[in-house]
Amino acid sequence: MTPYSDRRARLIDRMGSGVAVIATAPERTRNRDTHYGYRHDSYFYYLTGFSEPEAVLVLIAGDVPRSILFCREKNEEREIWDGWRCGPGAARERYGFDEAFTSAELDAKLPELIADQPSLHYVIGEDAAWDARMMTALNAVRAQSRAGRFAPSRLFDIRQPLDDMRLIKDLHEQSLMRRAADISTRAHRRAMQATRAGAMEYEIEAELLHEFRRSGSEAPAYGSIVAGGANACVLHYVSNDAELRDGDLLLIDAGCELGGYASDITRTWPVNGRFSGAQRDVYQLVLDSQDAAFEKVRAGARFIDYHDAAVRVLAQGFVDLKLLEGSVDSVIEQGSYRRFYMHRTGHWLGMDVHDAGEYRPAPGGAGAGEQDWRRLEAGMVLTVEPGCYIRPSDDVPEAFWNIGIRIEDDVIVEADGCDIYTTAAPKTIADIEAVMQDARG
Ligand code: ZN
Ligand code: MG
Repeated sequence: MTPYSDRRARLIDRMGSGVAVIATAPERTRNRDTHYGYRHDSYFYYLTGFSEPEAVLVLIAGDVPRSILFCREKNEEREIWDGWRCGPGAARERYGFDEAFTSAELDAKLPELIADQPSLHYVIGEDAAWDARMMTALNAVRAQSRAGRFAPSRLFDIRQPLDDMRLIKDLHEQSLMRRAADISTRAHRRAMQATRAGAMEYEIEAELLHEFRRSGSEAPAYGSIVAGGANACVLHYVSNDAELRDGDLLLIDAGCELGGYASDITRTWPVNGRFSGAQRDVYQLVLDSQDAAFEKVRAGARFIDYHDAAVRVLAQGFVDLKLLEGSVDSVIEQGSYRRFYMHRTGHWLGMDVHDAGEYRPAPGGAGAGEQDWRRLEAGMVLTVEPGCYIRPSDDVPEAFWNIGIRIEDDVIVEADGCDIYTTAAPKTIADIEAVMQDARG
């Protein structure tokens, strides 16, 4: 059994009965006749390991479970231009499907596949054309009612069971995520070593991309943020085209995708290799808040607990540094800390950088009624990423202006704690300054 056939079997188990139809992502045009680099749909790939476009998976639950792939046909002419295609015959054998057909046969075969089944499961409402295709198949079965065929009477969103499955990473996923994280730690170290006053942000971005690609990563898992000085206070800064200046910090949020899995690391370091006094104070504060957050990541804790722990340390620091007035409790209760820390301390990580999975139990699902945050379980992977962003303002000492710091690591939840995948990216003040000093010879 491959990890993929194992997941198909587990999903079929959760469905109990009915038919699921799961399509991969379409190809997207970038301009005129040029396409964006193709990226499969995460749900589809999770169940198949098959990365060609135009593919559809059909799963039939019940007494005789079956998994059926529809994929592009072999076509010598097209393969000369666009490259090798697996074709249904080889796909069935290689990927362990019970049956395989060409994509062109899908619409003709769907009605007979869903006929006399109690339920139809698919990704509802994401793509209008796909919704219409499912309804066309349903109506084709209904048209045969006088011949004694029944159309499924219930629709289910297949994302719900899949999201729950994807939250817990199996061993195959864990090893890919560890490797993706390793590559990204090397990329951050390389970027650190290349940083100089006068360099452009995109030059440092190129160092990241170099390390990603030479290590076999398909692509960055998301748009890399390479933000010098004030740009670090723009949370989704992506232009990466400014000059790095002596005395500024550089914030880099970048991670590669490997084998379909994301990594997501943020490090912040001084452009000139030495933290100033104010930079040092705020950096150590964010680092301390991250340590407090790690302490709360363990099986059984609520998802929100590590965020709350980080906020408490940050709020104390903002008061101590005289950035905010009042008691720590009032700073937290009134939310005034949000002026400098406005995002949450992390998210699920997996095939998608903000990975599938609810943060609260679904109504009617396991743990519902509790109206509480989801409890962490061993095998969940998440980011821990506190930060602090200080924009220029009359009521803030100038030494703090434009300090934007985030420190982000990827961790897997374990029974009595967590394992950090990304420790190899330098993080303490001493380590960062030593790496940058070494690079300068
Ligand atoms: Zn993140
Ligand atoms: Mg990030």
